[in-house]
Amino acid sequence: LALDGTTGQIWVEPSEERKQELQLQSNSKDELPTEVITQDGHKIPLMANVLGEADAKFALDCGAQGIGLLRTEFLYLERLTIPSEEEQLATYQAIAEIMGTHPLTIRTLDIGGDKPIPFLNLASSDAPSARHTPEPNPFLGWRGIRQSLDCPEMLKIQLRAILRGSYGDNIKVMFPMVSSVEEVRAAKEILAEAKAELRQEGYGFNEQMPVGIMVEVPAAVTMADQLAAEVDFFSIGTNDLSQYVMAADRTNPKVAKLADALEPAVLRMIQQTVTVAHQAGIPVSVCGQLASNPVGIPILLGLGVDELSVNPPAIATVMSVISQLTINQAEMLAGEALQLDSAVGVREYIINQLDRSV
Ligand code: PEP
Ligand code: MG
Repeated sequence: LALDGTTGQIWVEPSEERKQELQLQSNSKDELPTEVITQDGHKIPLMANVLGEADAKFALDCGAQGIGLLRTEFLYLERLTIPSEEEQLATYQAIAEIMGTHPLTIRTLDIGGDKPIPFLNLASSDAPSARHTPEPNPFLGWRGIRQSLDCPEMLKIQLRAILRGSYGDNIKVMFPMVSSVEEVRAAKEILAEAKAELRQEGYGFNEQMPVGIMVEVPAAVTMADQLAAEVDFFSIGTNDLSQYVMAADRTNPKVAKLADALEPAVLRMIQQTVTVAHQAGIPVSVCGQLASNPVGIPILLGLGVDELSVNPPAIATVMSVISQLTINQAEMLAGEALQLDSAVGVREYIINQLDRSV
C-alpha cells in the first residue's frame, strides 16, 4: 500500500513508477526553502507550535525555522506528581539540541480551569487558592499565569529548568494568559529569584534570556504600551483573543462560531497590539490558528506582524501563501479588511482579491 500523506491518496499494490514518484516527493522535503520570502523579497520568520521532542523533529522536517511556541502542558498532564526540575531540563535540552541554533520559545505552564491536573491539590503551595476546584466559567478562571503565580514554587521549578537549558542564546521564555502588568512583574520577580539561586549554586545560564508574554486577553491589548515596557516580545494568541474579544466560549458549539479570529473586532485588536509594540521597539509574533489561515496571513503581514508560528503540517501551505504576496498588497488587503463589518465579509473580500491576483 502506498499513501501520499499530503493529498490522502492511497494506491493498492503501487507500480514501480508510482513508488518512484512518491519517493521523489518525499525526497523533495530536503529541498524545502530555508527562507520564507514574499514576492517582493521580505523575509518572514516562520516558526512552529510544538508539543514535545518528536514534534520538534517533525517541525524541522516540515521546514520550520524554529519553535515559536513550545506548549509545556504535556509535561504536566496525566501524572500524579509535579515534573521535577531535572526531568523538565532533560526535555528542554533534548528539544534545544534538536533545534540547534534555531530559536526556541518555551511557554510556561498554561493549564486551563477546564483541564485540571490531578496533583495540583497536592502542590507545594498550601494556599487554599492553589487548589483546583471545578469552576463555573473555566475560561474566565484559574488559567495560565494566574495558576502559576498561585503556585510560585511550581513556577520556579519550571523557570529554573528553562534557565538551565538556556546556555545558548536562542531560548526565550513566555508567560501565557497575562491580563495585568502586575502579573508580569510578579512572574519576573520569580524569574529573578530563580536566576539568583542558580548563580549561587554555580549553574550557567543565559543572563539575558528574552522574556515575552502571550497577548490573548483584551486587557493585555489595551495595556500593551505598559506591558511592552516590561518584556522583550509579544506573541498574539488569536485562539484565546478571539473568544475573549467576542465573549464567546470557543468550546461551546452554540456560540463558538462567534469566536472567529477574522472578526474585524479581533483584527483591530491585533493592529493595536502591533502598532504599540513597534512604537516600543519590540517584535510581535502570532501563534494562534489565524497565522496558518490563508485568509489571515495577508492581513497579519499587512498589519506588520514580524513572525508567524503555526502547527507543523501547515508550514508548506503558509510558505506558499507568503511567497505569492507582496507587502504592499498585504497592507492594502489589511487596510480594507479592517473597515469591513463582519468575519464573513473579511473572508469573502480576501478570497476574491487573492483569486483575482492569481
Ligand atoms: C492561542 O490562544 O491562540 C494560543 C496559541 O494558545 P493556546 O491555543 O495554547 O491557548
Ligand atoms: Mg491561548
